[in-house]
Amino acid sequence: MKIGIVGAGIGGLTLAALLRGKGYDVYVFEKKTHIEEVGAGLGIGDNVLQKLGGHDLAKGLKNEGQLLETMRVRDDKGQVLSDVTFSKETTNLALLRQSLVETIASYVDIKVIHFNREVTDIKVSETGVSLDFSSSPTEHFDLVVGADGLRSKIRQTVFPDSKVLYQGYTCFRGIVDDMSQIGQVAEEYWGKKGRFGIVPLLNGKAYWFATMNAKEKDVKYLHFNKPYLQAYFNHFPEKVRTVLDKQSETDILHHDIYDLKPLKSFVYQNRVVLIGDAAHATTPNMGQGAGQAMEDAIVLANVLNKYDVLQALKRYNQLRVKHTAKVIKRSRKIGKMAQKEGSLGIKMRNKFMRTIPNQLIARQTRFLYKTKSE
Ligand SMILES: Cc1cc2nc3c(=O)[nH]c(=O)nc-3n(C[C@H](O)[C@H](O)[C@H](O)COP(=O)(O)OP(=O)(O)OC[C@H]3O[C@@H](n4cnc5c(N)ncnc54)[C@H](O)[C@@H]3O)c2cc1C
Repeated sequence: MKIGIVGAGIGGLTLAALLRGKGYDVYVFEKKTHIEEVGAGLGIGDNVLQKLGGHDLAKGLKNEGQLLETMRVRDDKGQVLSDVTFSKETTNLALLRQSLVETIASYVDIKVIHFNREVTDIKVSETGVSLDFSSSPTEHFDLVVGADGLRSKIRQTVFPDSKVLYQGYTCFRGIVDDMSQIGQVAEEYWGKKGRFGIVPLLNGKAYWFATMNAKEKDVKYLHFNKPYLQAYFNHFPEKVRTVLDKQSETDILHHDIYDLKPLKSFVYQNRVVLIGDAAHATTPNMGQGAGQAMEDAIVLANVLNKYDVLQALKRYNQLRVKHTAKVIKRSRKIGKMAQKEGSLGIKMRNKFMRTIPNQLIARQTRFLYKTKSE
């Protein structure tokens, strides 16, 4: 079977790694000229590592990832609102985005990745599916996998009614050194003017993110550089101020936060299938975007290996559509709670957070482990 994968991001590369040596004729098309990821850090939870099972990629990720022990939320005065310690039997990792992508890519046969190949159109016929490119001839496949991210050309073509939704807040991110004192604890500070998160990485590095409520493409935040961020968060606890002090003037990333209105199917005419952000982009509040993209790839590789294509795509839909819709909705809900504005609302939220048992909070993510990989 000839399979075209559009996008050499986290999902596309994972799929290419898992299909390697399984008898498929795989082509990965990437519009960029090489594997270079813009980004700070990412979480990869035990839900992904479990699904990878004995594949060497799991070992590779464990080598590159910082083990996380605790996820803590504080208010902007430093008072603990929730404190969830991960079970010792689970492995939850934080990685530099670049390391994650390079690690996955190291398990892909480099010959199958075709850079500088932007897909401009997709056409499905009874006999197959073809891809058009911006600067090379059309190519034909038995199956095309849209792994081309939030603004997926593939999704927009086959499901033109799909909707990317702005979630009302904007996000700054960066990476800093000399942060080994934070140990294995990921922390978020939820304040009146926004939220600040700090997550440890290997070698004493840490990634941070700051979110604030804003209009879409808000001009107010267009030139928000280090001094602005320092001023904005100067009433937050010392750890936050230390992180911003350590941040270089450049290399601060800024993105508005979007997710996708859940789709009813990830499969089109049994010739096109979507994975990752193309299928179900989610807000970053559960740290599951990359993880769910990898899970899609694992499930898709498993079902293709087990069933004929029709059966495989049907099963992929059964296993992934509802589950990822739940991730989108829950993550959105957490975002709404974390980005709350107004003194009264925040006071009530904080009181609720302090009284709710930590085990109950941990239970909110238990569904992530219950999905099958086939
Ligand atoms: C602020 C922020 C914080 C985040 N934090 C986390 C986190 O903590 N944990 C987590 O798990 N996730 C997080 N995510 C989400 C995560 O980055 C994505 O979910 C993940 O990258 C999705 O992988 P993907 O392979 O589906 O898409 P992408 O990684 O976006 O890859 C898509 C690839 O397709 C290529 N492409 C696009 N269009 C075309 C085309 N027409 N032709 C050819 N190639 C094309 C792109 O160049 C890209 O390489 C965060 C996202 C944001 C915005």
